[in-house]
Amino acid sequence: MSTEKGSLSIHSENIFPIIKKWLYSDHDIFIRELISNACDAITKVKRLSSLGEADLGGKTDFQVKVILDTTARTLKFIDNGIGMTDEEVKKYINQIAFSGAEDFIKTYKDKGDIDQIIGHFGLGFYSAFMVADVVEIDTLSYRQGAAGVKWHCDGGTEFEMGEGSRRDRGTEITLHLGPDGETFLSEYTVRSTIEKYCSFMPYPIYFEVADKEPEKDKDGNIIISEPEALNDVLPLYLKQPSACTDEEYKEFYRKTFRDFQEPLFWIHLNMDYPFNLKGILYFPKLSTEFDTIEGRIKLYNSQVFVADNIKEVIPEFLLLLKGVIDCPDLPLNVSRSFLQNDGFTKKISDYITKKVADKLNGLFKTDREGFEKFWDDISPFIKYGSIKDDKFYEKVESILLYKTTDEKHVTIQEYLENHTGKLEKQVYYVSDPVQQAQYVGLLKEHGVEAVILDHSIDSAFISHIEAKKNDIHFKRVDSDISDLMKEQDQTDEETGKTEVESMIKVFKRALGKEDCKVQLESLKSEDVAGMIILGEDNRRMQEMMKRYSMGGFNPGMFPSEETLVLNRKHPLIKYILGHANEETELLDLIAQQVYDLAVLSHKPLAPEAMTKFIKRSNELMKKMIS
Ligand code: ADP
Repeated sequence: MSTEKGSLSIHSENIFPIIKKWLYSDHDIFIRELISNACDAITKVKRLSSLGEADLGGKTDFQVKVILDTTARTLKFIDNGIGMTDEEVKKYINQIAFSGAEDFIKTYKDKGDIDQIIGHFGLGFYSAFMVADVVEIDTLSYRQGAAGVKWHCDGGTEFEMGEGSRRDRGTEITLHLGPDGETFLSEYTVRSTIEKYCSFMPYPIYFEVADKEPEKDKDGNIIISEPEALNDVLPLYLKQPSACTDEEYKEFYRKTFRDFQEPLFWIHLNMDYPFNLKGILYFPKLSTEFDTIEGRIKLYNSQVFVADNIKEVIPEFLLLLKGVIDCPDLPLNVSRSFLQNDGFTKKISDYITKKVADKLNGLFKTDREGFEKFWDDISPFIKYGSIKDDKFYEKVESILLYKTTDEKHVTIQEYLENHTGKLEKQVYYVSDPVQQAQYVGLLKEHGVEAVILDHSIDSAFISHIEAKKNDIHFKRVDSDISDLMKEQDQTDEETGKTEVESMIKVFKRALGKEDCKVQLESLKSEDVAGMIILGEDNRRMQEMMKRYSMGGFNPGMFPSEETLVLNRKHPLIKYILGHANEETELLDLIAQQVYDLAVLSHKPLAPEAMTKFIKRSNELMKKMIS
């Protein structure tokens, strides 16, 4: 074959500056494009052979080789796939790709949004010019008697074609890396880019550095090690779920996410109709509240990595999980705005949501104990999903669990049943089991358990449940005094009023406060002198103001409605009641101490109050011995 020169059929001035400029942000993608072309070429020849249309001549060790030569500044991609004839190079490389390029230029010339569209316009091969000054193709078609072809292009619109040097079927693409490809002279960069995009590609990918010093043992002998493929050609998610073992699922998780914490459980997605979707979603074990942000769902298209965490395909709340999803029906390189408007992606997203909800329901029904064990880890995710996605909420509504202060896990239905005759559609909760222990203790004495809702998502979750089930109310344990705790009070209304008045006077003076809400009760328990209660609505309002005003919150705007509840049956309260008019130092000390103790079991004391409390406690003890 004589050397042939030609001009690439393209009307635009020069496509390469455009490719370089516009696709720059993702320029490692050329590795994905060239390796997936190589894999496609192998698949094609395999298919032809299975149809009896190609003779493989015993060469069936299908593989892709990537060779970096840092001295020659080249990066080679070699496959033993279908190869190309002279005509095919002209058709697929010179013409087709460039007509794709034309479309590309027409469509995107004036638009900023050109994210991930290379392959969509058949520009995959030309992405090589993002990093290379010169690209060569040396290829030999599988066809009997085909002649090898060499193609050479220096990034202008000119190319050169001549006789190729390959003796074996396949294609070798050589990139002469230019200044924009400098980073790909690093072994590490090339290796990690292959791992990023090609981990699950269907043929083994080997990577070597041609001019690397061979590794030697301590005696100076060269160590010969078996080359190892960088990818997993048959990733677990492609297998039938019934053929996978727990150990394999865990191993796949460890390898894919480099997370050495075992996942809690997983869902194997395997769907052929009405669309093709395979994947595995893992529920990771969360060690802290903040871990939740770090989920990662990798999206693949026929074993080619597309992107992480694509919100349009994966429901946002599922992004807290880790997993892989492979959907060959999804266009590989489409812009996100296209995905958003696509009814198909919505279907995928709904399918995934449904599968997750089904799995959770299945676990709840068949392994309640196991489900309870996972609950603390998975609950933030399920709660988040319930708030974000109504369909999901409807599916998991009846399996939402609440952990009680006696370490049991109950549904809201079970909680209400357990408290029949004691609570009417009310759920008591604690947001801080330690701080609120006294209230919990008092409720417990009367057979009432509280549920623990101490995650940052819980306040939003509570509001969500109340809005959905409008007859249910959540009350923090310190928001009121349950009737169960009170005794029938014998005091008549008039006396009661006067007593409250005089208590207010004592506490105002002792605490130096302008206003002070006091309530007198006969509590069944004789151990508690005083308690602070703060109405649920009032507290939620304060919390909300605090959250939204980012610290600029003025507490005066919504005065706290804290009430000091005093227990008529407690000896100290009896003492104060009996000496209310005396204005003695001791009376003040007792009132201050009763108040501080009440506050302490409600919230932490302010630093100044704490100092005073400690000093006063010392004084009181000194009085005991004097
Ligand atoms: P696309 O892969 O989207 O078709 P490309 O620009 O990447 O677009 O490639 C254009 C065409 O060139 C391919 O469709 C294929 O026919 C041919 N081709 C590219 N790389 C190879 C290869 N390694 N072996 C055989 N043919 C190839």
